Amino acid sequence: MNIIVASSEVVPYAKTGGLADVCGALPSQLEQLGHQITVFMPGYRAVNYGEFSVQKTGIDLEIPIGNQLVPGELLVTTLPGSNVKVYSVTNDDYFDRESLYGEKGVDYEDNAQRFIFFSRAVLESVRLLDLKPDLIHCNDWQTGLIPALLKVEYESNPLYENIASLITIHNLAYQGTYPSSTMPLTGLDWKYYNYLQMEFFDRLNLLKTGIVFADSINTVSPTYAQEIQGAEQGCGLEGVLQRRANVLSGILNGIDVTQWNPSIDELIPAKFSADDWPRGKSECKKHLQNYFGLEQNSSTPMIGIVGRLATQKGWSLILQVMQRWLETTDVQWVVLGTGAPEFHAALTSLYQNHPHKLGLQLGFSNELAHQIEAGADIFAMPSEYEPCGLNQMYSMAYGTVPVVRRTGGLADTVVDASLQTIAAGTANGFSFDGFTAIELERALSRAIQMYRFDKENWNNLVRAGIQRDWSWAVSARAYERLYRKTIERKQGHPISP
Ligand code: ADP
Repeated sequence: MNIIVASSEVVPYAKTGGLADVCGALPSQLEQLGHQITVFMPGYRAVNYGEFSVQKTGIDLEIPIGNQLVPGELLVTTLPGSNVKVYSVTNDDYFDRESLYGEKGVDYEDNAQRFIFFSRAVLESVRLLDLKPDLIHCNDWQTGLIPALLKVEYESNPLYENIASLITIHNLAYQGTYPSSTMPLTGLDWKYYNYLQMEFFDRLNLLKTGIVFADSINTVSPTYAQEIQGAEQGCGLEGVLQRRANVLSGILNGIDVTQWNPSIDELIPAKFSADDWPRGKSECKKHLQNYFGLEQNSSTPMIGIVGRLATQKGWSLILQVMQRWLETTDVQWVVLGTGAPEFHAALTSLYQNHPHKLGLQLGFSNELAHQIEAGADIFAMPSEYEPCGLNQMYSMAYGTVPVVRRTGGLADTVVDASLQTIAAGTANGFSFDGFTAIELERALSRAIQMYRFDKENWNNLVRAGIQRDWSWAVSARAYERLYRKTIERKQGHPISP
């Protein structure tokens, strides 16, 4: 298949979240499966004027935005470790800026124009580069206009009539909504500005536009694909998503196993694998106890947490359980995170009262994140919602048993240790339903009991996590199937493998 991936973020060039990881990892995996993949991203300062060898193509663009023709240029580089071409769509007025979407917490005021320009430039490049794609894989609101342009404006052009579109939703909370006065910039007729298509409470909504017009829609986990069809997690778009339920699915993200693999990880004090993890993990745990000044005791259970200090991640529940357990229970906690000031303050106060049971680092440290994933016995992640989540997968790959709330990607990756799943050999962690401190406490208690009194089953959980293939190779095969299905539906006949 011949596929274009269009994204506002691609690792290693530009990243603010998981979107960049997906669009940086998936293309080379798909190439290895024999497909021709071309990536498009905006020509940000970090891409064009950074450390990457970006070359001129000699191709100039003229993109209509409202009643203006905006000039652009296509630059090109190659995705590291692959032959995948990455085109950077350049217009320095729009993209030669400090940041991707805004500065000092304020979005750039011309974001709609910037990404309408990018979306139109991708479609024009199809013609200018003679790409002949079977499908354009769009990602999030920044590329939400592409499926609409394909269906409405390019539909009657023979070069475009067979191109299918897919939009992946990485986080439904970000929708790209703008005042109605933005509509003329899209170049589409006002007739599409209605509540069933591009309008959402009298604003232009670019994610909704993508959802309505794309041939297929997916999210980053199967459970999140279901959850967003309900009022609780639908962010107002649940009705639109329900109407498109027949083409909506979920594919779990993978993890980058060149970075997150305990048998080759240079950031952890002792490497280990599924065969010799007890020795390696106990050295890693000792190192953490030393680093944080905790009591050096190999049998005291250690609970690790790494993540943004945001309400979504369930810190209100964690703080309640920590407060009780620091007084009463022989358990150590190691916490790495940064974010909301109220959580910084609450964690600092707990740390001041219990410095020998709580190791706390408020900041960002990739190295310490690796060390906690490797050294802790248990990893806690009681998120309120979680489109996919990476930390629970990292923890299992490092033999650290996750305790999670059963939502989104957490529900799809963590199999709760019940009598049945233990007997079937599928258990790899502990999960609970209600977003309450008491449910988190019960799940953590179950984990601690098994850790202390049932080593055989505990070791089976650890091994199940380390042995499973969490790599992008698995997700790439699922995207391959989804592309094929979408193209066949669009073209009305089977395509060759
Ligand atoms: P989200 O994308 O919602 O923040 P994920 O679990 O999907 O949550 O991914 C979080 C990523 O960010 C992981 O790679 C995690 O290790 C990393 N991370 C989050 N906070 C920190 C921190 N304070 N220091 C180092 N890495 C962090």
